[in-house]
Parts: sequence; C-alpha cells; structure tokens
Amino acid sequence: MSIALAAGDALIVTDVQNDFLPGGSLAVADSTAVIPVLNRYIACFRARRLPVFATRDWHPPNHCSFSPQGGPWPPHCIANTPGASFPAGLELPADVHIVSKADTPEQEAYSSFGGGRLHALLQAAGSRRLFIGGLTTDYCVLNSVKDALRLHYAVFLLVDAVRAVNAQPDDGCRALQEMTRLGAVRIRYEELSV
Ligand SMILES: [Zn+2]
Repeated sequence: MSIALAAGDALIVTDVQNDFLPGGSLAVADSTAVIPVLNRYIACFRARRLPVFATRDWHPPNHCSFSPQGGPWPPHCIANTPGASFPAGLELPADVHIVSKADTPEQEAYSSFGGGRLHALLQAAGSRRLFIGGLTTDYCVLNSVKDALRLHYAVFLLVDAVRAVNAQPDDGCRALQEMTRLGAVRIRYEELSV
C-alpha cells in the first residue's frame, strides 16, 4: 500500500511524555523507539503544511487515576512538571496544536477526544483523515482511535510509532486487532509516498 498525504490529513502524536519513557514514573517498554519514527512523520506533515496535534496527560497532583487516590497508576504526568513534558528529542513544530486532557482531579480520559477540544480543533482545521501514533497502544491510542472512528474520521494507525503498556502480555496485540477490526488502517512510514 502507498498512501499520499493530502489536504484534510492531520497527524496526532499521542501522549509522548517523559513519564512514559525510560526513567519516568510510568515507563513503557521500548517507548523511546517511537520518537525518531514520529519525527519522520512530523517532518512529512510539516513539509506539506498539514496540521500536527500533540496530546498530553496533564494531571493535577491528586488525580483520580493515581494509586494514592485508589486509581490503577502511580502518579504520572503531573501538570507543569518535567514528567509531563514532551521529550527534548521530539521535534514538534512551532505551530503544533497541544491538547491537554484529564486535567481535573475527578476525571480520567484515556481518549484524546475526551472533553471535545480535539474534535473541535480538527473540525476547524478541516481534518478528515487522522494519522495516529504515540503512547500507549493499549490505552490512550486505542481509546482515541475508537473515538475517532465513532466520529467518522478515517484513521491510519502508525504501527511503527506506537508501544503498549502490556499489563497483560497480549494487550498491545489485542488492541491492534481491535482497532483494525473497527476500521483503522495500519501503516508504516515506508508506506507514505514522500
Ligand atoms: Zn494518566
């Protein structure tokens, strides 16, 4: 398959934040590997003046998903801390659209569409086909892809630019299968015609 980028396409870089990288409080195995691949996608979209969106967990210190509050995760991606920052090696364009999520204590949002801001920005940009990668395959990417399909976007899943938490060993594989079954098209960078 060869995919040509065109007007109406948008890149969504999902939750590539220091706390999900090695040394972070919720480190995901091999997650650093997505950065150079995403940089190649970013360069492609920039070269065509297509919009790039970066989503981020942006939690208050007492967020409901944190174990001290009874949630499943150690504290991570607390707003305005280094753990919540995008890694220095991620080459986001100066005009990137940043979408923060799960930024109130009682509300969790695995999907980047939580709260409706991303959908509004995509509508304003005239985006119809979404190219989605980032972290993590089995949580935020999965739920974002499901919402995107529900909202009738065409979705290309960047399989070379996602990594999974794999709380159960097959979670990432199962998430990929589910996204494909629902209509997402798996692509790799080499399949973009550049
Ligand atoms: Zn979180």
